[in-house]
Amino acid sequence: MQRYEERRVANDDTYWLVFELAWRDFFQFQFLKHGADFFAPNGIRDVEKRWDRDRAAFCRWADGETGIPFVDANMRELNRTGYMSNRGRQNVASFLADALGIDWRWGAAYFEQRLVDYDVASNWGNWAYQAGVGNDSRDNHFDVLSQAEYYDDDAAYVRTWLPALDDLPPQYAHRPWRMDDDEQARYGVDLGVDYPEPMLDIEARYAELRNQ
Ligand SMILES: Cc1cc2nc3c(=O)[nH]c(=O)nc-3n(C[C@H](O)[C@H](O)[C@H](O)COP(=O)(O)OP(=O)(O)OC[C@H]3O[C@@H](n4cnc5c(N)ncnc54)[C@H](O)[C@@H]3O)c2cc1C
Repeated sequence: MQRYEERRVANDDTYWLVFELAWRDFFQFQFLKHGADFFAPNGIRDVEKRWDRDRAAFCRWADGETGIPFVDANMRELNRTGYMSNRGRQNVASFLADALGIDWRWGAAYFEQRLVDYDVASNWGNWAYQAGVGNDSRDNHFDVLSQAEYYDDDAAYVRTWLPALDDLPPQYAHRPWRMDDDEQARYGVDLGVDYPEPMLDIEARYAELRNQ
């Protein structure tokens, strides 16, 4: 019956929906199989990774005050609505675990408090996967800047959640630190006042991660 129903209504969207539901079931079975190891800092494969526990840096991430617009916009959407897209979740999780090197379990616990669709297996499974301690041993880090410029090329999403950046052209809306003092004055965005300075040199950090 299901196969027939699938064939009868099959299209691109149904293909992806079934694909996504397969991921959901995958994490349910993984949780069943691994139990408490799902919450271990080095994950189900006991991967040798040292995690940072910088509370102040973590709070900047949680509050959407990192100074990296695509991360901040997604975190502010989560804090205001309880929802964030899968693309957004992958990027902010990678930013916390890969770019900042902060304990991914803090991020998973924060999502647990905030998400309207929180599910223990999907949340902790996806977080561990993104942090490189889940099922996949490959380097999964996301370059949040190139992701932002590809998936939010006109910066409409970033400007929706970060009104301080509303008047900026896309290249500066995604990389406001590239503005010099004159440009900041021209666009009326004083970094460090109207919008945070970036909490790290993210372009240098991604160059580092690419060369690892
Ligand atoms: C760090 C991180 C944390 C996440 N935490 C949760 C969570 O707590 N609860 C949750 O349901 N999903 C979680 N996901 C998976 C996914 O992001 C959401 O299921 C999806 O964004 C929900 O939006 P939607 O219903 O519009 O999804 P659609 O894209 O329309 O997908 C339809 C359904 O498929 C399932 N699904 C889709 N993608 C995934 C996935 N990667 N893993 C597991 N199931 C998936 C969900 O049940 C979803 O409702 C997480 C993903 C990441 C990267």
